[in-house]
Amino acid sequence: MGTALVYHEDMTAARLLWEDPECEIERPERLTAALRRLQQGGLEQRCLQLAPREASEAELGLVHSPEYVSLLRGTQALDTQELQALSGQYDAVYFHPSTFHCARLAVGAALQLVDAVLMGAVHNGLALVRPPGHHSQRAAANGFCVFNNVAIAARHAQQKHGLQRCVLGWPGARGRGKVVVGVAETPPSALSHPGLGSRPQGWRPCPSVSSALPVPRILIVDWDVHHGQGIQYIFEDDPSVLYFSWHRYEHGRFWPYLRESDADAVGQGKGRGFTVNLPWNQVGMGNADYLAAFLHVLLPVAFEFDPELVLVSAGFDSAIGDPEGQMQATPECFGHLTQLLQVLAGGRVCAVLEGGYHLESLSQSVCMVVRALLGDPVPPLSGPMEPHRSALESIQSVRAAQAPHWTSLRQQGSAPTPRPGTCSTDGRTSPLSPGGPTFKAAEAQASAVLSSLLGQLHLHPTPPVRTAVTLTAPDAALGLPPAVLHQEGLHEALIQDTAFTALGKVLHLLKGILDGQVSSGVATTPAAAATLDVALRCSLSHRAQRVLCVAVGQLDRPPDLANDGRTLWLDIRGKEAAALSLFHVSMPLPGTTGAFLSCVLALVLPLAYGFRPDLVLMALGPAQGLQEPHAALLAALLRGPAGGRVLVLVEQEPTSQLAGILARVLHGDAPPSLGPFSTAPPEDMQALLYLRGQLEAQWKMLQVAAPS
Ligand SMILES: [Zn+2]
Repeated sequence: MGTALVYHEDMTAARLLWEDPECEIERPERLTAALRRLQQGGLEQRCLQLAPREASEAELGLVHSPEYVSLLRGTQALDTQELQALSGQYDAVYFHPSTFHCARLAVGAALQLVDAVLMGAVHNGLALVRPPGHHSQRAAANGFCVFNNVAIAARHAQQKHGLQRCVLGWPGARGRGKVVVGVAETPPSALSHPGLGSRPQGWRPCPSVSSALPVPRILIVDWDVHHGQGIQYIFEDDPSVLYFSWHRYEHGRFWPYLRESDADAVGQGKGRGFTVNLPWNQVGMGNADYLAAFLHVLLPVAFEFDPELVLVSAGFDSAIGDPEGQMQATPECFGHLTQLLQVLAGGRVCAVLEGGYHLESLSQSVCMVVRALLGDPVPPLSGPMEPHRSALESIQSVRAAQAPHWTSLRQQGSAPTPRPGTCSTDGRTSPLSPGGPTFKAAEAQASAVLSSLLGQLHLHPTPPVRTAVTLTAPDAALGLPPAVLHQEGLHEALIQDTAFTALGKVLHLLKGILDGQVSSGVATTPAAAATLDVALRCSLSHRAQRVLCVAVGQLDRPPDLANDGRTLWLDIRGKEAAALSLFHVSMPLPGTTGAFLSCVLALVLPLAYGFRPDLVLMALGPAQGLQEPHAALLAALLRGPAGGRVLVLVEQEPTSQLAGILARVLHGDAPPSLGPFSTAPPEDMQALLYLRGQLEAQWKMLQVAAPS
């Protein structure tokens, strides 16, 4: 299992044949530059490379009208003048004699990727395609988009794999499924991977063949800077597809100028609540804004929805330097967003390229997504961890609009929608024109920032060992992936004293992490409290400037630990919620899955990202009380804030498999399912709201609304 990369050079054939300043940015070099950077970084070679097929016209018909498909087929025979005339009938579109072939390959690439993931050949993947798809509608090209690649992939996943899953069920039922519905069982010929055909982990059998077939739930995350109105129109009354889009909006003054791109467009009929629009009303949104949108809007809703597949409309015009977006998010941000999505749907994440027109920014961002998909640690987020006021107003609006539809948002308490007249604006509403003086200044600034980022990335090289495990006693039954190092070395100073053997192993592992030889590790210990104390002091005296301690169970903060801002201690087991200082926060152990998710997304991660630690120490002490999937999710999410530098200490029963599960998630595997979503008890939500109220003035990532 691994990561698929789907690409075909034929998709570079279509290009603009006449003068059109609006369309010239959608050019073949977008694909070749991204691919070259993946090759230079050694990332392409680590992926399973799949060559796409052309989508069939029947597959295009899953979303598009026969007349529209026929019209596009006819473009192959048109001359340049006729192509230009036809292009003029649509908004921001150009056709080329090879457009039909390219666009069918782009759809085919998305389908190939979905097939590979859902049939278990790979965990996840990226399809590098053009033309993009998310603006395309049933019978209309729009915004460089011809066929709606991601929407067709969603329908394909539901129809092919939904039927296959539900009718065929477990392996013993395959023959029956074939007779009953005649679903093709043969995987596409290009997918001749040994793992193909196995049932993906977490795939649930249907209760019976005769009952109504449940349709797999699919989450589409559209992080392109434009609203994917095409996807919204296709699924707006469909509760089986949750569509999330953030987009440059500027109160309706940015293309495509649609009223239905605003936060109060939530879907229709049975689909109400399954369209989530987050409009950015200013340019300049950056890493903190995007992260806040994920933590406070997308992820609470997504966990409640519990998707079986995540599709990403991966546009990078929302990244720094892009002339369309004029946003500030740096490349590693897209790696963090990817990591955050990988804890959903058993890690089944398929990213499909949409926009992205600054070649350097696009290429670096694509590399960060692939690094995350491969399970590599992603460098820490750069820039200030404080969302813009306008971003908070947008987040506040969308939470208010969605609260009637999602328990998790309703329980956290949503402030009323800010009145339109009070919304802040900087007045920058018109897009920059390429070639203009302001555009050139912005591009020069972006290039300088990107060069400095490249330098910073060299400061965060990927350690040679991604994950290491050290145990108090050997345990061959952990089922660790082969690349996880089972570390048995000892700290030199302690090697003579058997009483300190376990501690010596932990310190040896910690030294490996602090020296950059190991990214993350799991250590079992007979005395978590003492080990955590020593590990923390060693870290601070060795190299770490700031250490985040997430202590679960009976693990008191050492009373003599200096409260100097170098340690942030989060105590998850307290009798009551208390902000004992800015750097010592205690909260009760959440009683349900819903409460646990709220605690992690609304409190732990905002504090963790806001603190910007060099190292995360997560300790599971006596009476820690977390179920294994919850502990695994916490460890997986804590990979983000310190760029993957996490040491998990476990006071462990000799028979427990917890260390193995934790090692696998630190290594990049998806955590196991949490099971059905459950409502949080009122007392847990009160504790959360109390802590947010106490802390959000200083810890800005906790905010879910603009300060009044
Ligand atoms: Zn776009």
